[in-house]
Amino acid sequence: MNIFYTAILSSFLKIANPHCKKIFRNLNLTIMLELRPNCENCGKLLPPESSEAMICSFECTFCFHCYESFLENVCPNCGGGFSQRPIRPKNNWKNNNNLSEYPASTKTVYRPLDPAEHSLFAKGISKIPAKQR
Ligand SMILES: [Zn+2]
Ligand SMILES: [Zn+2]
Repeated sequence: MNIFYTAILSSFLKIANPHCKKIFRNLNLTIMLELRPNCENCGKLLPPESSEAMICSFECTFCFHCYESFLENVCPNCGGGFSQRPIRPKNNWKNNNNLSEYPASTKTVYRPLDPAEHSLFAKGISKIPAKQR
């Protein structure tokens, strides 16, 4: 691509950029964490300010109790590990990047696990550090 087209493209992107978030949001494309409302396994409510929410990279969401008691740091849906879900600020510290502009999801994901089945699935995977899976 020559310099001329690069300049046009970059100026277009600068114009488009402020509108992108809204367009993506309207199209319901995920460009940020959904902040799911509950533990997928036990249904425990996990509001956006909860420090008990554990998520995998696909944002499969579990409460700390389920994570600690039998998930073995293996997501039952993807086999990846978990991290604590970050808390989206409720205050407008900058550019409306906050909870009221980007509210938490209200869509419940609830698919309780069969502990025996998960234990079988996690058996080999849990021995591998998450960053090597
Ligand atoms: Zn749970
Ligand atoms: Zn997962």
